[in-house]
Amino acid sequence: MNVLMCAACGARLTEPLRVLPELPPCPEFDGRKNPDGSRHAPPTVPLGTYAVDPEPCGAPYVPHPDPDWCDAAHPGNGCMGDPDGQGFLMSAGPRDTLVVHPEDARGYLSGNPAFQEIGCCGPPGREGPNMVCAGCGAVVATLFADCSAPYATHFLPDAVRVAAV
Ligand SMILES: [Zn+2]
Repeated sequence: MNVLMCAACGARLTEPLRVLPELPPCPEFDGRKNPDGSRHAPPTVPLGTYAVDPEPCGAPYVPHPDPDWCDAAHPGNGCMGDPDGQGFLMSAGPRDTLVVHPEDARGYLSGNPAFQEIGCCGPPGREGPNMVCAGCGAVVATLFADCSAPYATHFLPDAVRVAAV
């Protein structure tokens, strides 16, 4: 088992996790509600696991050259219309983010005070890395938790290190 640690201060950021050989395909929103009545898409990875996402993830977003292109399955993309053009925006964020179930990082992270995101049911994660290390405040991850998008926390590969436990 591994845990993700803050590269800045060494604090632990997740529960013990088992690495998956590849990132599972993003599940479709299934309409289920949380116990508190809010809705979210099913988690991308099961509790207790993590996977590396080889695709760019999160902010910044740039116009895609194909006006008919749409990648609703990738977190944060979700067919975002380009406010300055005809087509859709695509992520130009970091590759090789580490994807965990948001519940496995609960209590280890705090919201990034630089972002005040409004989503339907949770932060859409489109503004940039919206979670910081609870210990030192270093920006470490983007939480995607709106109900219309995949439900996952993507850790920045340069902000964390993987430690065996
Ligand atoms: Zn830290």
